[in-house]
Amino acid sequence: MTEVVSYSIKDEIAVVTVDSPPVNTMTREVRAGLKECFEALRKESPKAIVLTCAGKTFLSGGDMREFETGVLEPGYHEVLRLIEDSTVPVVAAVHGTVMGGGVETAIACHYRIAAEGTRLGLPEITLGIIPGAGGTQRMPRLIGLEPALDMMLSAKPLTAGQAKDAGLVDAVVGGELVEAAVAYARDLVTKGAGPRRTRERSVAGGEKVAEVIAARRAQAAKTMRNRNSPNVLLDAVEASVTRQFDDGITFERTLSNQVERAVEGRAFRHLFFAEREVRKIPGLPADVKARPITRLGIVGAGTMGGGIAMCFANAGIPVTILDTSQANLDRGLATIGKNYERSVTRGSLKAEQRDQRLGLITTSLDYAALGTADVIIEAVFENMVLKKDIFAKLDAVAKPGAILGTNTSTLDIDEIAAVTQRPQDIIGLHFFSPANVMQLLEIVQCTKTASDVVVTALDIAKTIKKVGVVAKVCYGFIGNRMMDPYGREAEHCVLEGATPEEVDSALESWGMAMGILAVYDMAGVDIGHLTRVARAHLLPKDPGFYRPSAMLTERGWIGQKAGRGYYRYDGAERKRTPDPEVIAMLHEEGKRLNITQRKPDRQEIQERCLYAMINEGALLLEEGIALRASDIDVVYTAGYGFPRYRGGPMFYADTVGLKLIYDKILEFQKTLDPQYWQPAPLLKKLALAGSSFAQYQAEQSR
Ligand code: NAD
Repeated sequence: MTEVVSYSIKDEIAVVTVDSPPVNTMTREVRAGLKECFEALRKESPKAIVLTCAGKTFLSGGDMREFETGVLEPGYHEVLRLIEDSTVPVVAAVHGTVMGGGVETAIACHYRIAAEGTRLGLPEITLGIIPGAGGTQRMPRLIGLEPALDMMLSAKPLTAGQAKDAGLVDAVVGGELVEAAVAYARDLVTKGAGPRRTRERSVAGGEKVAEVIAARRAQAAKTMRNRNSPNVLLDAVEASVTRQFDDGITFERTLSNQVERAVEGRAFRHLFFAEREVRKIPGLPADVKARPITRLGIVGAGTMGGGIAMCFANAGIPVTILDTSQANLDRGLATIGKNYERSVTRGSLKAEQRDQRLGLITTSLDYAALGTADVIIEAVFENMVLKKDIFAKLDAVAKPGAILGTNTSTLDIDEIAAVTQRPQDIIGLHFFSPANVMQLLEIVQCTKTASDVVVTALDIAKTIKKVGVVAKVCYGFIGNRMMDPYGREAEHCVLEGATPEEVDSALESWGMAMGILAVYDMAGVDIGHLTRVARAHLLPKDPGFYRPSAMLTERGWIGQKAGRGYYRYDGAERKRTPDPEVIAMLHEEGKRLNITQRKPDRQEIQERCLYAMINEGALLLEEGIALRASDIDVVYTAGYGFPRYRGGPMFYADTVGLKLIYDKILEFQKTLDPQYWQPAPLLKKLALAGSSFAQYQAEQSR
């Protein structure tokens, strides 16, 4: 008996209960408690044992903190072995969300009963690791080779029903779980059924192991490009067929340690913690309370306004959208309706849910209708004069204490706030397209934004299931400002003689979800161009600066919506295909501008784009626009398609080594346009000191 694990015996059936709130994580204390109880039960000699958890879930998974400390004694294997070795049947009674180590414990038990609504998964691969507590050896033995691979490679949890069909659980019960499990255990005793050890089973489908693993390897190379942990997982699962259980467990342990220490595993863990760190805002008093949010207003029923409305309606919050004409409102509502309809057709949303969500969205042409909103988000065209006009109107109708947010991507929000009498209530709420899908919410704290408004914005992000990252005001905030030098290099490479396809495939093969030129085509090449026209007086005096975007916009070749941009989008599928006319035009332009024609190779394209981005990130840190290097990593992985397995731009920079990046920037200073290749002072300082962004962040937070 320990503080977190206890047992009781009634009529010769023991019930071991883990009670370690909030989610029964398999901490060292829980493992030690299980060990103590199962050892004690050897002497008590019950006829059967039920293992269950108090609270909202069975053992939810391993303890992430132990990645840093190493697994403390007693380890998983020792405890699970003890449970599996029991000479009387052990029945796991599972409920809630059972992941990783929780599932590995359940399958070390001899039988499993699940409550309705239970979900069981082995999601380790999403953290760049593999199940390391016997999961790769026991799961194939329990449910067969292919189903086990599906579960581990997809990381998708099974519902109780699916788990029953797969043979992962023996029964699904609707009523009182522990009672049902005790009855099940008693039944086993009556029938004389003894322990049924997973490790003693053979793997169904194992005879085809070589071809199955080879096929999965080929698939993983395509769908999980550049990643190593899927291969390691396949090695481990293969061993469940080709090795004896104990040998397989030893092998799994070696592989598991290896992936935990590898960059990929560290990158995923870095993001796991970084996404929790974003809520810590230095200088905010701890007792600041969020303002209540029960009603939302939106100005602008376009792409972003509609998506934002869906985010709130999905969270059950009523929304009123305002636009300049009924036709605009109708078009906006129709798009929202279509988006919901698609989810219903796909089966991810019920028709009643769609109706209920649509019922939460109302429209109006009258500003007075926004008077009861707790938060109003402006999402009209990217135009300062227009936005100022709207904020003056909102200031007149919004109730006292209402938060006025803008979805601007680039404009100076301090300037917008200055037209109101309530600059303390103004904040940037920068959503990403499609707003109802993208995970990121960039929260822009203006010079005068009140602390409780920032806290409310962070709460809003949580309510609508997004990750909110706080930035300060500057052109483009964190995300778009770092995109600027990244895109500049990509465009310049084309003027030097690379094709758009060569640039994009260099970035995509490195891991970006989409090459930047294809991104411009998707978002509209004109969008960035018009922003640059508006800020022309602030931009470098370089005729090659974003020249390709300018030329395409001038010709109306603004991307997918025009059927052509950097690429052509013909046919029903609108697949991107190279456009010889555009390629020739841009190469000619490069020559006309006296840009040396030299066709940068793949590695150079990657280094130029990424190191320019990282250098800008270092400037953002120095200027205090970004609070932490890890916040930048969250922005990029949640909002810009940066590969999670590389941990974000700043984490990636640390893995390359800041000195190497610094030296490369100095080299580019000599070989490319020196005005763009000035190392950020912070990058220089850290590089020369042999330090890293992570170390800098640790020092700053001390
Ligand atoms: P959009 O053109 O799709 O929609 C703009 C909407 O605002 C239109 O419905 C228009 O009728 C309405 N509008 C214009 N003037 C108005 C006024 N005076 N009063 C009320 N409504 C008015 O534009 P969008 O893509 O949704 O962009 C909106 C804002 O979001 C911009 O500031 C943009 O920079 C920003 N943003 C866009 C994206 C994106 O990918 N589209 C991403 C992030 C941020």
